[in-house]
Amino acid sequence: MSMIKIAIIGAGMAGLKAASTLHKIGMDVTVFEKSRGLGGRLASRRTEFGHFNHGAQYVTARHPGFNDYLHQAAEFNAAQNWQPNLHRGGDHGAYSGDTIPEVSGNLALEKWYQGAPQMNKLIRPLVEPFEIRKQHRITKIDAITPRSFMLHDDLDGEFGPFDGVIVTAPAPQTADLLRPLSPRFDPIGDVVMAPCWAVMVAFEKPLPTAFDAMIHPCPDISWAARSSQSNDMFHRRTPDPWVLHASPEWSRDHLEEDKERVIEKLLAALRDVSGVKLPELHSVQAHRWRYARTKTPLGRAQLNGMNGRVIAAGDWCLGARVEAAWRSGQSAAHTMIETLIG
Ligand SMILES: Cc1cc2nc3c(=O)[nH]c(=O)nc-3n(C[C@H](O)[C@H](O)[C@H](O)COP(=O)(O)OP(=O)(O)OC[C@H]3O[C@@H](n4cnc5c(N)ncnc54)[C@H](O)[C@@H]3O)c2cc1C
Repeated sequence: MSMIKIAIIGAGMAGLKAASTLHKIGMDVTVFEKSRGLGGRLASRRTEFGHFNHGAQYVTARHPGFNDYLHQAAEFNAAQNWQPNLHRGGDHGAYSGDTIPEVSGNLALEKWYQGAPQMNKLIRPLVEPFEIRKQHRITKIDAITPRSFMLHDDLDGEFGPFDGVIVTAPAPQTADLLRPLSPRFDPIGDVVMAPCWAVMVAFEKPLPTAFDAMIHPCPDISWAARSSQSNDMFHRRTPDPWVLHASPEWSRDHLEEDKERVIEKLLAALRDVSGVKLPELHSVQAHRWRYARTKTPLGRAQLNGMNGRVIAAGDWCLGARVEAAWRSGQSAAHTMIETLIG
């Protein structure tokens, strides 16, 4: 069994769920990740006064398996419950006509979790002693026989041979890697992912609002939240860290804009919607997610080709949430096991 070698591209929730499942049954797993860190869109940026979560903000479970995972993560101290003072905006910003599936749901009834102490730690229970090669961007997969595959990276590295490959990059990047291999991967082209501009701002003094988080406060901003966990309004930490997410429509319309202009416009929108004078800025930065959230999913948990030995997975298979990534990673691993072991 230990001779079965599997390559997994992407160390986000989907890739690591697949890797940990296959490692547990004895396969020899190598994960390739283009970034320096793990977690993918479960992203956190370190600053002098703490972390900003500039990707996924919170996680909910609607599936028993993922619910168990979140409990396990909480036992590992890698997840914690989050109950912000929440303001919900009107219909104007509710992704009208551009609905992101799975974002709706009854938020009031769902238990919210965050990674602890920051979002990217949510994957901690999945990081087992398999090999993770960071800063390796895979650019090509070659089928040297119908049963074995070589991977190439952007630094002329060559890796393999592998008996199976699972690709968990966002849909357009997965399509670039897999469509040259087989027309079975063509349906990935139908998946639509929306961009998101994120602004990480630290105010010198606490933003004088009663809310820690605002959902759809205006058409330009889909989300604004305090990045610190303190719910005590009278003893706010300073600087006061906030993350703003532009709406998918605004992000699309300003995709190529300079970071400085994006920051200026989104802070102006925050000022207008909160109705307060914004405190002096301590620091501010912006990040563009070109592929942030799934608008049109594939509609099935994974897609495979090359006789089941090459598998596409990721949140975009099922939806726009971390749970969708976890479920897709699990399904990819089970398909690989069925193909290689039966
Ligand atoms: C701004 C924003 C807000 C969000 N808010 C929420 C939320 O509140 N709640 C929620 O549930 N979900 C939210 N999401 C969605 C959630 O983050 C994703 O559904 C989930 O993290 C996707 O996991 P994944 O493993 O499928 O993909 P990813 O996390 O994108 O992982 C894919 C990995 O593949 C790597 N990769 C890509 N190409 C290559 C390559 N060629 N070679 C090597 N590595 C490669 C990437 O670097 C990345 O690490 C949000 C996302 C964003 C961006």
